[in-house]
Amino acid sequence: MTTAKTTGTTMLAEGLPAEATIDLAALRGNLAALRERAPGAAVMAVVKADAYGHGALPCALEALAAGVRWLGTATPEEALALRAAGIAPEQARILCWLWTPGGPFAQAVRAGIDISVSALWALTELVDAVRATGVPARVHLKADTGLGRNGCQPHDWPELVAAALRAQAEGLLQVVGIWSHFACADEPGHPSIRAQQELFAAMLAQAERAGVRPEVRHLANSPATLLLPESHYDLVRTGLAMYGVSPVPEAGTPADFGLRPVMSLSARLALVKRVPGGHGVSYGHRYRTPGETTLGLVPVGYADGVPRHASSTGPVQIGGKWYTVAGRVAMDQFVVDLGGDVPEVGEEVLLFGSGERGEPTAEDWARACGTIAYEIVTRISARVPRRYVGGSGARP
Ligand SMILES: *Cc1c(COP(=O)(O)O)cnc(C)c1O
Repeated sequence: MTTAKTTGTTMLAEGLPAEATIDLAALRGNLAALRERAPGAAVMAVVKADAYGHGALPCALEALAAGVRWLGTATPEEALALRAAGIAPEQARILCWLWTPGGPFAQAVRAGIDISVSALWALTELVDAVRATGVPARVHLKADTGLGRNGCQPHDWPELVAAALRAQAEGLLQVVGIWSHFACADEPGHPSIRAQQELFAAMLAQAERAGVRPEVRHLANSPATLLLPESHYDLVRTGLAMYGVSPVPEAGTPADFGLRPVMSLSARLALVKRVPGGHGVSYGHRYRTPGETTLGLVPVGYADGVPRHASSTGPVQIGGKWYTVAGRVAMDQFVVDLGGDVPEVGEEVLLFGSGERGEPTAEDWARACGTIAYEIVTRISARVPRRYVGGSGARP
């Protein structure tokens, strides 16, 4: 049997039960591929949710080393953490877009963080923070062009734009961005795509007629960056594609888009044992061995981010061969039925990776669990140590 050990491709560090390898060279390559896709636009590296599980700071630094000048986060706390780690305003604009009342507007303004405003309440709190700190704000007004999530509805837009322009006239802020977000960019041909693009153009034109002179107009996420060139405007906000995962698996694999997966997740077999036929496996006995067989114990579970929905469906590769999770994924571990194979205890189990070694990908896990690959990589928890390879040595 060919094993990961004998082929010399074992990546898992000695002694660790599990590890996520983050290939920063792949991240740089993906950014280059995205730049080629959107030659007229700047790229924003979206590093929210700890860079989709890949590590916000190392990924942000690598993106900066690759020439990126925009970072995006959901929460102001995420943006402030990047500034606190030493990423200066001269190095990167950081935009954060998910604010709640009482949020850290004053800290964000002082830290030179770009602030998204979707409603008057946020503008009011922001203006108060600017008055208190004496530091003018950089604002991106967000339009709800159809997503129905955050953003300002068209009927409230003229009022929000006018209020922002009044504050701008007083020197309290600069409206530097007009932006929106797609609902269905990952479903090519969905009628909402064109409708959102048309509404964005109209709301943008309205703001410009009112006197807004945006530095950046932006609409595209990863799927739109890959598939909708007319949505690129001045800036594309890429998350998933930068991490080398296909945001539109129906339209293409990562390789089809010139992308390489950045995260690989592997673990080490904690136990290999013979059991008789008819033996129940894991909680609830949802799997019963069809005959005498070998079971392998994999020391990662839902506390590590392996979805419980992968019970009896998640794929892994051991010694070059695929197996399926047998029975329920538990908090800290799951079991695979190795059939007649007897790999050594300690052997590497590849859960997902680039696929270049024949292993499953995050997309395979998403399919197995009835979810999207975004969730597969993002939920890998802090208990799994990250190992960074291929980095350029970037520091703040
Ligand atoms: C998460 C997010 C993105 C990035 O989306 P991807 O599909 O991962 O590229 C862009 N814009 C907003 C507003 C987001 O919330």
